[in-house]
Amino acid sequence: MRISVIGCGYLGVVHAAAMAELGHQVVGIDVDAVKIARLDAGLPTFFEPGLPEILASSIASGRLRFTTDVSAVSEAEVHFVAVGTPQTAGSDAADMTFVDAAFSSLIAHVKPGDLIVGKSTVPVGTAARLAEQIAASAPDVTLAWNPEFLREGFAVQDTIRPDRLVYGVPDGAAGERAARILDEVYAATVAAGTPVIVADYATAELVKVSANAFLATKISFINAMAEIAEATGADVTKLADAIGHDNRIGRRFLNAGVGFGGGCLPKDIRAFSARARELGKGEAIAFLDEMDKINLRRRARVVELVSDALGGDVTGKRVAMLGLAFKPHSDDVRDSPAIDVALRLTEEGAHVVATDPQAIESARLRAPHLTYVSSAEEALRDADAVVLVTEWPEFVALDPVDTAAIVAGRRIVDGRNSLDPAAWRAAGWQYAGLGR
Ligand code: NAD
Repeated sequence: MRISVIGCGYLGVVHAAAMAELGHQVVGIDVDAVKIARLDAGLPTFFEPGLPEILASSIASGRLRFTTDVSAVSEAEVHFVAVGTPQTAGSDAADMTFVDAAFSSLIAHVKPGDLIVGKSTVPVGTAARLAEQIAASAPDVTLAWNPEFLREGFAVQDTIRPDRLVYGVPDGAAGERAARILDEVYAATVAAGTPVIVADYATAELVKVSANAFLATKISFINAMAEIAEATGADVTKLADAIGHDNRIGRRFLNAGVGFGGGCLPKDIRAFSARARELGKGEAIAFLDEMDKINLRRRARVVELVSDALGGDVTGKRVAMLGLAFKPHSDDVRDSPAIDVALRLTEEGAHVVATDPQAIESARLRAPHLTYVSSAEEALRDADAVVLVTEWPEFVALDPVDTAAIVAGRRIVDGRNSLDPAAWRAAGWQYAGLGR
């Protein structure tokens, strides 16, 4: 099929390359000329395992190209919109200016019979509003909403083999046709047994934000238990193991630590709350505001633990920060707990020396005044305290005895509860985790 993808960020570029990998003819479009030049040369604009390979092979085969010229959508009949929906400055609501601009420019170039497919995460009610706009200016064009659930770090496999596909479509023949076209786009995925849920627009939009709300709640729940564990001497990691054996609860996403971050969960739960308030239903999901607060409190707690380890004053102390990305296997530092913790410690007078296997360049753009070094060994050298904030395998695998020989003071704060406290303590370290 001939496909266009408007917006080539984390979601869009993976989607474009994955669709080409599935055999479609794809054009990726973005307003950022620098990004497009890199992508068109086959160079990824961020770190994502597996992306360089499918980008290079799709471009070499001639199935994928990139341009800033939105009129290129006229080469395609299915148009995915994957532009950003960040948090609005000074408000919890999603900033819809990119979606609105993308739809306006796209509608000017679509042809009768085309299908527009929204992939961005949007406030419920957006698709219905945009469908009206399309009906007014391009009446033979249908809109579907097909939310994306990919996880950064696993984005390629999640796009090609997702847990499920959700199609939000209008009622009647247009909706049935839209679902058939999407089945064709995802033919290989559907043939592999991926469940497909066909729903109305509002349900499809809500599936995405409610999935994120659930995941955020699960993480914040265990972090709330960590707060109680800290006050009582209990161990939240054992508690999580024990309750996780109940398969109604499950162990995944029950790791207490510095909390969630990234370009999705924090802004999505805030936008969901803002939208619910607009709908007069703020009360129904008021608990999400509490989840957000629990999450942010954990960042403050990590700063407190570093300070406690250093006798209550971090001024002039060298703190090695292991990790910058909001999670391992990604270079994404949007709303990263690590950056937050690093900035707070710096504000309190510490000299933070940070490292990350992939995220130094993206972190430097957000926090230019931090000190960055390219290896854990350099960060650890002469450190008065160490704080692990992103559980990259190489950090988790650090040997406590070898590490002790490099640092100035054996103090470690394990912001992800991913180290073995007994092994670190046995090597003479003062170890602090969260809720354990
Ligand atoms: P991003 O900021 O990485 O990418 C957005 C891209 O859209 C940028 O390259 C930007 O230049 C481009 N853009 C903005 N306005 C445009 C326009 N008018 N025309 C063409 N391009 C335009 O964001 P992202 O992380 O890829 O997220 C995109 C959407 O997908 C968001 O709604 C997000 O919530 C959702 N989402 C993201 C993920 C993820 O893991 N990143 C997962 C699921 C859903």
